Amino acid sequence: MNFQEIQRLDGTYVAKTYARYPVALVGGKNATLTDSEGREYIDFGSGIAVNVFGANDEAWKKAVIDQLNKIQHVSNYYYAEPQSRLAQMLCERTGAKRVFFSNSGAEANECALKAARRYSFLKYGEERDRIVSLKGSFHGRTLFTLTATGQDAFHKYFGPFVPDVSYAAPELADVMRVAGSDTCAVIIECVQGESGVNALPARFVGELADWCRRNDVLLICDEVQSGNGRCGTLYAYEQYGISPDIVTTAKGLAGGLPIGACLFFGRAEDALGAGDHGSTFGGNPVACAAACNVIGRLTPGFLLEVQGKAAYLRAKLQGFDGVREVTGLGMMIGLTVGRPAKEVAAACLERGLLVLTAHERVRLLPPLTITKTEMDEGLSILKEVLS
Ligand SMILES: *Cc1c(COP(=O)(O)O)cnc(C)c1O
Repeated sequence: MNFQEIQRLDGTYVAKTYARYPVALVGGKNATLTDSEGREYIDFGSGIAVNVFGANDEAWKKAVIDQLNKIQHVSNYYYAEPQSRLAQMLCERTGAKRVFFSNSGAEANECALKAARRYSFLKYGEERDRIVSLKGSFHGRTLFTLTATGQDAFHKYFGPFVPDVSYAAPELADVMRVAGSDTCAVIIECVQGESGVNALPARFVGELADWCRRNDVLLICDEVQSGNGRCGTLYAYEQYGISPDIVTTAKGLAGGLPIGACLFFGRAEDALGAGDHGSTFGGNPVACAAACNVIGRLTPGFLLEVQGKAAYLRAKLQGFDGVREVTGLGMMIGLTVGRPAKEVAAACLERGLLVLTAHERVRLLPPLTITKTEMDEGLSILKEVLS
């Protein structure tokens, strides 16, 4: 199909929830993608931090195909090796005690929020159910995670919402003000993605973690976007020197297949028990085999390379005319530019570069395997567009 045909079908039959760029991506290699008309693009978006090894990675494909040659799905009534193995890898790498698998970031957060309420219910009774989330946060599109999303724009039309969710500015005093005595959990993104690639202040995150511990309030780190090597460490919270009780992740975890994971640490280990939660597809063997390949390859050496690439990109970007500020952490990069970010993204696309936006910022989330040549090609397009 050519682009016009694809666009016509989509416009006729697909729900109108997405404002799409006028491109149909059909293939590629690493961070160089091809569209339906044979045009090439440098990919600084990774399908929103999903394709951590870019397109067509040989070892990743082999892991997926090997599993497809065995069995594609196993009900959670039975055991399956890829799920057990992935849980072991995640626990051994992070110190988590147990993992629940879902299919998306929203579901991973839904699981975390439910688990926090159950933890508190069993210990303190049903009145202690408040969730505190941060202003500007994004946690997903299910009703509970949408409620926990601290941006009014997402809330229009969909009420009534889940009760007992409050929003705080990223300051401990404000968290304490809205928390009262009935709070069971605080959910944060160490680096807020959708609201503009803002890394939370380290001091606030440290103080919050202490406060949570002292008050037996569970600290949930939403690493759906910032995790899986994106920020230069396996998870971004590591760079904040904190020990969260629950960590959620998704996007890049399986390198391009749908998966979500909710990791339970220490006191939260038994936050969910038999029959409390479940998912038909959660922990799907193909997705888990892919994720085992991803986590297995995010070695300390690989992560050092990611840090090097991030430093390279950031140094170059700092020097560009039209870049006022470079934000975020590692390969999760926000750019404050002196004009509408959407306009920059459209101009980049026309010149063969895929970038994302987040509110007023241009957002860059390149594949972690991007080569120096690909980075330089993308940077030169961005430089031209911004100047
Ligand atoms: C993308 C995202 C989500 C939602 O993930 P889905 O897979 O789209 O449900 C939740 N939290 C954060 C921080 C995200 O970036």
